[in-house]
Amino acid sequence: MADIFREVRERLDMDTVARHYGYQPNRAGFIHCPFHPGDRTASLKLYPGSRGWHCFGCNRGGSVIDFVALDLGLAPLDAVRRLNEDFSLGLPVDRPATAADRKAAAHRKAVSSTYQDFSAWRDSLCTRLNACFRVAHTALLSLEAPEDFDQLTPAQVLAIQNQAAVSFWADALGGSMEDQMAVFRNRKEVEQLCSRILNDTQRKSDTA
Ligand SMILES: [Zn+2]
Repeated sequence: MADIFREVRERLDMDTVARHYGYQPNRAGFIHCPFHPGDRTASLKLYPGSRGWHCFGCNRGGSVIDFVALDLGLAPLDAVRRLNEDFSLGLPVDRPATAADRKAAAHRKAVSSTYQDFSAWRDSLCTRLNACFRVAHTALLSLEAPEDFDQLTPAQVLAIQNQAAVSFWADALGGSMEDQMAVFRNRKEVEQLCSRILNDTQRKSDTA
């Protein structure tokens, strides 16, 4: 049963749940707190994803389950039942978990951890691409005459030659899943380019 509570918390987004039950968060994710009277300033903050909520007026807070339990006047387990129904989560609240339920839960877990690995890879490559872009940008700014080009390091030259590509890959990583996958398929080439530009720059600044 503890697993079911956790799964409800992890799978439901606080903002989506609040909207479903009739709340309209403002741009900063605040709503008027329904749990203390006269909240004119909207002091209840809905946090992104599974991080729940907190009211800065009455100091109450918790998970989506606590929110629904308080809002609808339900016991926590009934709030879980209600969310399971309203969001078609298909969790085995009132029957013992079957082998199929466990398999489905394990699969959801695997998908989510693969996605986390992917996000970590994407964010780190994006940081490296931005660093490559800055190498090119700084090098170009340092050029006062065309002949200064000869004084650039091989890494700076490489960064300048590939600045358009670097910027293209960085944009793609911030784009649709399809664009991100295109970078992923070419990751060897992209990562090698980053390493050639950044490692060299790194060595140069180390010895400077
Ligand atoms: Zn409150």
